Amino acid sequence: MIESRFFREDCYIGGDWIDGPERIVVTNPASGKVIGSVPNLGRKETDDAINAAHDAFLAWREKPAIERANVCQRFYQALMDNQQELARILTVEMGKPFKESMGEVAYAASFFRWFGEEARRIYGDVIPSPWSDKRIIVTKEPIGVVGAITPWNFPTAMIARKAAAALAAGCTIVAKPASQTPFSATAYGVLADDVGVPPGVINIITGTAAPIADTMCENPKLRKITFTGSTKIGKALASKAMQHMKRVSMELGGNAPVIIFDDADLDRAVEGALISKYRNSGQTCVCANRILVQAGVYDSFADTFAAAVAKLKVGDGLMEETDQGPLIDELAVRKVERHIEDAVSKGASIIAGGNRHAKGFTFYEPTVLRDVTPDMLIARDETFGPVAPLFKFHTEEEAVQMANDTEYGLASYFFTKDLGRAFRVMEQLEYGMIAINEGILSTEVAPFGGVKDSGHGREGSKYGLDDYINTKYALIGGI
Ligand code: NAP
Repeated sequence: MIESRFFREDCYIGGDWIDGPERIVVTNPASGKVIGSVPNLGRKETDDAINAAHDAFLAWREKPAIERANVCQRFYQALMDNQQELARILTVEMGKPFKESMGEVAYAASFFRWFGEEARRIYGDVIPSPWSDKRIIVTKEPIGVVGAITPWNFPTAMIARKAAAALAAGCTIVAKPASQTPFSATAYGVLADDVGVPPGVINIITGTAAPIADTMCENPKLRKITFTGSTKIGKALASKAMQHMKRVSMELGGNAPVIIFDDADLDRAVEGALISKYRNSGQTCVCANRILVQAGVYDSFADTFAAAVAKLKVGDGLMEETDQGPLIDELAVRKVERHIEDAVSKGASIIAGGNRHAKGFTFYEPTVLRDVTPDMLIARDETFGPVAPLFKFHTEEEAVQMANDTEYGLASYFFTKDLGRAFRVMEQLEYGMIAINEGILSTEVAPFGGVKDSGHGREGSKYGLDDYINTKYALIGGI
């Protein structure tokens, strides 16, 4: 139980709060203690939510853009006005440090402000006609009811990136959060009531994923599915959704390289790699999964980086001094252990951390491995934990080849002071997002998304609305 009016243990469908007899119990990863529970709803309630969203859609799409923009703006303000309370719920259910939760709530809010502004700029076209007696007009229309499925690692922001774009475009939404972090999602029901979102425009449903996802795919009133999560589940969901010809957006896993060239500003590279790797305990889709360091600076980078990592403070996210919270669950810790064991058995050495943390539960020491090679598990798999593997390369070509040697293509990073190299490498990296001399790149004004097995579609920016819009062509004759 968390003392907050935003802490709701029920679901929000058609503007009503809905309960259910079967419950999903939620625990705090920092203590293992039960926080509360949410209903385990299924096919019937998912259909109810889609029906409510469809009824609401018919009126919501007719609202002038300025009215939808005003609702988004109020949403932005409500998130910011209640930033601390929402951040506390986020940290208690997910584990990330409170300062990161505060940042996530602000990041979530920024999408409502941005898409509220963009709602008024959904322009069509008049196309020069090849016939003198006919005119060609193109209009943009909302897709309809959107089904959103989101992960536990950014429980507030991942809903915002989808809901804000959907509302701005004139769509309505049924969102299913991850079962480990449902309370940041149910809080959206309270926010929706507060800001006067018409009933049915936003619906939050909790429960076992497969029946809810199947219902979303099968119900003809739902026209689009947007998913953020693992590549494995995303692929299965996308193929099911395509059988029913839904529009699909997929924000999936990553295997981000951070390349440090020997002409880089090393202090900047250490700082960038540190924030990219250890933010959210290494549980972000864009976090450094492989750090590739050029031979000339390999040893000095490894020493400075390991020393900086050893200073990170591990603890409960609610403690002021915490830099790194717990991992989400025991399975996550075992994956980290598996990656470290495999790497060490094949010749890597541990130069920082390498053990479960003395705090117990799912706390793990921030870890650095050196002499890591591409044949190790950690080179291929998303670790999703606080382990930085350092690989060595000799030439620019080799770095690009190593960086692209993965089925993923979400975020990538590199550090160099050479402008020519910056352009060459930027153009050759097969990634949806590239940060040069920076360790964090997310912002609501830029397009977030991947290529290859990291998915398709973009969230945020002017491109983010495209995924919620149909293009309609009208030919007018007899003029
Ligand atoms: P996940 O296991 O794929 O779960 C994500 C969501 O899918 C949860 O809501 C989950 O519900 C649901 N789900 C589970 N089984 C499903 C099924 N059969 N059909 C439809 N939905 C199903 O991923 P995760 O472990 O929560 O999140 C981590 C992954 O997300 C990482 O791979 C990370 O890289 C990726 N991610 C990507 C982005 C991006 O923007 N590209 C952002 C954040 C995270 P339950 O919780 O109820 O099982």
